Amino acid sequence: MQNRKDCEALDATDELAVYRTKFHIPEATIYLDGNSLGPLPKGVSARIVRAIDQEWGQDLISSWNKNNWFVLALSAAAKIGTLIGAAGKDIAVGDSISVNLFKVLSAALKLRPDRKIILTDKGNFPSDIYVAERLATYLEQGHTVAIHAPEDIAAHITKDIAVVMLTEIDYRTGNRHDMAAITKAAHAAGALVIWDLAHTAGALPCNVMGINADFAVGCTYKYLNGGPGAPGFLFVHPDHAKTESALVGWWGHKHPFDFTLEFDGMNGARGMQVGTAPILSLTALDEALDVWKTVDMHKVQKKSQKLCQLFIDLAEKKCGKFGLKLSGSRDMSKRGSHVSFHVENGYAVIQSLIAHKIIGDFRAPDMIRFGMAPLYLRYVDIYDAVEKLHMVLDQRLWADPAYNQRLSVT
Ligand SMILES: *Cc1c(COP(=O)(O)O)cnc(C)c1O
Repeated sequence: MQNRKDCEALDATDELAVYRTKFHIPEATIYLDGNSLGPLPKGVSARIVRAIDQEWGQDLISSWNKNNWFVLALSAAAKIGTLIGAAGKDIAVGDSISVNLFKVLSAALKLRPDRKIILTDKGNFPSDIYVAERLATYLEQGHTVAIHAPEDIAAHITKDIAVVMLTEIDYRTGNRHDMAAITKAAHAAGALVIWDLAHTAGALPCNVMGINADFAVGCTYKYLNGGPGAPGFLFVHPDHAKTESALVGWWGHKHPFDFTLEFDGMNGARGMQVGTAPILSLTALDEALDVWKTVDMHKVQKKSQKLCQLFIDLAEKKCGKFGLKLSGSRDMSKRGSHVSFHVENGYAVIQSLIAHKIIGDFRAPDMIRFGMAPLYLRYVDIYDAVEKLHMVLDQRLWADPAYNQRLSVT
């Protein structure tokens, strides 16, 4: 399956093809960065305009009750719950992954007071590790963060581990941890598990209750298309309903409008809500999540695997001679929904591709990364993107000095 006609044939029978019409994709652009910022779902603009002009502009403060602002986070939580296998009541929507990780990690450490090690891997997102290390030193109880290679994690799950803290899909290699097996091994050793679902939610089927995950965190601006800086989420297993986070606020109080001086928090995830929800961002997210109502995540994963395989096959065949080297596993079942290659001058290669309307991104030190979001990508897009990648490498278009000036966001 190596020519454009074959790709057209796949698109013609693709059950998910209809979803492309639900997004704004800029003219003549192939968007391979939905793993970093999802595109704009069509319903969102109108809903945001209504929230601004009518709800904020006219209804003002009454909107907290009248327009359901106060429970908007609960609506988004229920929708996210169906995508990650949890009840809406066990999910709190708000804050970033970094902040939510601080909350659930502090709660988890409190549940294992006699253990001092937080186990994670070198492929984890740096911010997750910053949060863990700062919390560990701040507590001054001898906590440490043990960082090993992803493939060595299972061997390091021992009876002195308090918390195993991992991201299912490695943001660079695209490699996938076996969530069920690791969670099981951790529980057998008496440890708790926190999963970061940043590259999972909206990309792969996920069942946090099914695998008995203790805690999870995730963001909504990547595959869930919630918009720039959209609020993240956290999950707390109902068995840990009584856990206490180190970060609390009035939005986690049972009766916030009683304004009592003692914090009397709600159980579980809800008690980890902290301050006022960002209503405009939340409005965009709540609308964006409606796209998923009828989506079968198993079909999404299947198409993602086919898109990844196609991209890898074509890129290796056409661009292998330029030194392109696949990062991560060749086994599609051990991957998430993006493909990265090591390549020389990767930053300039991506800048040059962007100038030709093929949008991917660069991850230091030498990776070009392409997200495969099955709801709006076509097989022909993959074909055309690889043709452009070949052109950039073959004609050394990346050598243009304009493409070699580092911008602050890569
Ligand atoms: C994108 C991403 C984050 C982002 O964290 P924020 O605090 O929401 O900015 C965290 N972890 C992983 C694995 C990510 O890919």
